Amino acid sequence: MAGMRIVVALLVVLLLVAGGLWALGLPPFKGRTREPAKPDLFAAIASPDPGAVTAALEGGADMHARDLSGYTALMVAVRESAPTTVLDTLLAAGAALDDVTENGSSALMLAAAAGTPAQVIHLMNAGADPTLRDTEGRNAADLARQNAAVRTSGVFPRLQELGARPFVRGWPSGYVVPVEHATISSRRSHLPGALRAYRNGYHEGFDFYNGTVSVSIGYGTPIVAVADGVVIRADKDYVENSQAEYDALIAEALRGLDTPPEVLDRLRGRQVWIHHAGGFVTRYAHLAAVAEGVAVGSVVRQGDVIATTGNSGTAEAAQGTQDDPHPHVEVWRDETTFLGAALEPEEIWSLAAQVFGVAALPPFHD
Ligand SMILES: [Zn+2]
Repeated sequence: MAGMRIVVALLVVLLLVAGGLWALGLPPFKGRTREPAKPDLFAAIASPDPGAVTAALEGGADMHARDLSGYTALMVAVRESAPTTVLDTLLAAGAALDDVTENGSSALMLAAAAGTPAQVIHLMNAGADPTLRDTEGRNAADLARQNAAVRTSGVFPRLQELGARPFVRGWPSGYVVPVEHATISSRRSHLPGALRAYRNGYHEGFDFYNGTVSVSIGYGTPIVAVADGVVIRADKDYVENSQAEYDALIAEALRGLDTPPEVLDRLRGRQVWIHHAGGFVTRYAHLAAVAEGVAVGSVVRQGDVIATTGNSGTAEAAQGTQDDPHPHVEVWRDETTFLGAALEPEEIWSLAAQVFGVAALPPFHD
């Protein structure tokens, strides 16, 4: 009887110890206790709720997870025909644009093969590499041939063109030129990075002067958004510099070795800034007027008229004339890097062909 009691007591102790270990999730029961489930990013992407992806990411969803077919979140968004705002949310959260599946397909390739022209343009604008090839050697343009929607759209020739050129990662493609049918300037001094001795600084954009681009430019020539985006600055209430104010700005610029940013901002005159896919920002300067309906927060589409050409911020404007009107357009990757910085003119023209298309190149350089 005593032996039996000891056995029962040992069993009770064993059960209590085992129960304790189980409750605490310690070995051999490790992992039994449930961690809170991470939100399913793929389900959120497929959800019709526009806030689902943001909520999932805020809830700790793994941005870099792959689904069962080896797709990234960006690829799933393309496959599920998620709106481009979902692509933006994923990109802003750090989705890798050029990740590929086991057979070498990127999100851009999937969009080209089975998606819409809008998806393709959006990924190009965000900076996706159109020269990548899958394990069968096909790039995005090759894959688009089987997709009538993309093949018959305006983006197809751009994809073909890009597939045959070296691609500079970190910069967009698929933009249009800010003046319809214009080439960029043939003149080196009109390119970003050119010296500006009158104010001890550098030029940060592309100038479109009459006589150096393929269309005529005058005061009032319409300026269009180079890509879809959201307006983040629109100077509706700009007041032109007086001659004295202009002279003071130039004097201040000449005191240092580089034009101070706030002085440079005044010298750009009336401006519109647009935020695009991939975080790129374009700035349009020396404007005569901001187009009706363009305000901070406005969504603009590629090719929409956003402003008219002027000379605001220049010496000519301070003198009260409409002389030397020209759009000045900058492309920024982040707050410190403008397209063309630290590049030679030949490299800038080549990069401009990637961003604005080969048709934007001037027929000669001078
Ligand atoms: Zn300029």
